[in-house]
Amino acid sequence: MEKTYAVAIDGPAGAGKSTLARLLAKDLGWYYVDTGAIYRTVAYYLRLLGISPRDADGAARYIDEVNIQITYDPQGVQHMWMNGLDVTEDIRTPEISQGASLVSAHPPVRRALLEMQRDLARRHNVVMDGRDIGTVVLPEAAVKLFLTASPEVRARRRHAELAAKGKKDAYDQVLSDLLRRDAQDATRAIAPLRQAPDAVLLDTTGLDIPQALAAMRAIVKEKTGL
Ligand code: C5P
Repeated sequence: MEKTYAVAIDGPAGAGKSTLARLLAKDLGWYYVDTGAIYRTVAYYLRLLGISPRDADGAARYIDEVNIQITYDPQGVQHMWMNGLDVTEDIRTPEISQGASLVSAHPPVRRALLEMQRDLARRHNVVMDGRDIGTVVLPEAAVKLFLTASPEVRARRRHAELAAKGKKDAYDQVLSDLLRRDAQDATRAIAPLRQAPDAVLLDTTGLDIPQALAAMRAIVKEKTGL
């Protein structure tokens, strides 16, 4: 099999990971893999079954029954399929954000999704974003980035994103949801959110998208020559 390259991007919610990872992947001509969407799909599935995201036994019992597939449309947009249904839009709600954070702390859920993520990286050059990509999923990634920004800036971005979709969540609520989710993600026992020792830290607080993208592109070039 041909050698593949991976850029692993981790960081807290709202640091700009998905927007920047998607643009970087487009620029490199690689696949963009949004791993948060996979955990969101599991959360959505369990919710349909009426299982609480805190219910570890319920998650363990049903995780093998959900068939999750990822496809890419001609624009390169990642679509998430749950048992044959396209749930790409349904998984983008604050409730599913919080559910995904709780569900992702259950070891059987992480185990079930690990191979799916590694398989994508074996078959394609990828820019993959999440919470544990550089530490657990792809520890051998050629490039590791840890993106962060101040909580206020992250909440403002998330608030604007929701508003653009016509959702009127209050800024304070967005900020408190984000902080709660970061705390959960960073303190869980398995694959917590943290910077890999060999990851480059990029604080996007004062950067706009083109500036952050240029910084990331320069790091990729330095590490891979590509
Ligand atoms: O990135 P996104 O906000 O879509 O992720 C939703 C949740 O999924 C995160 O809060 C986190 O708990 C979980 N997640 C994870 N590991 C990843 C990606 C996401 O635990 N690699």
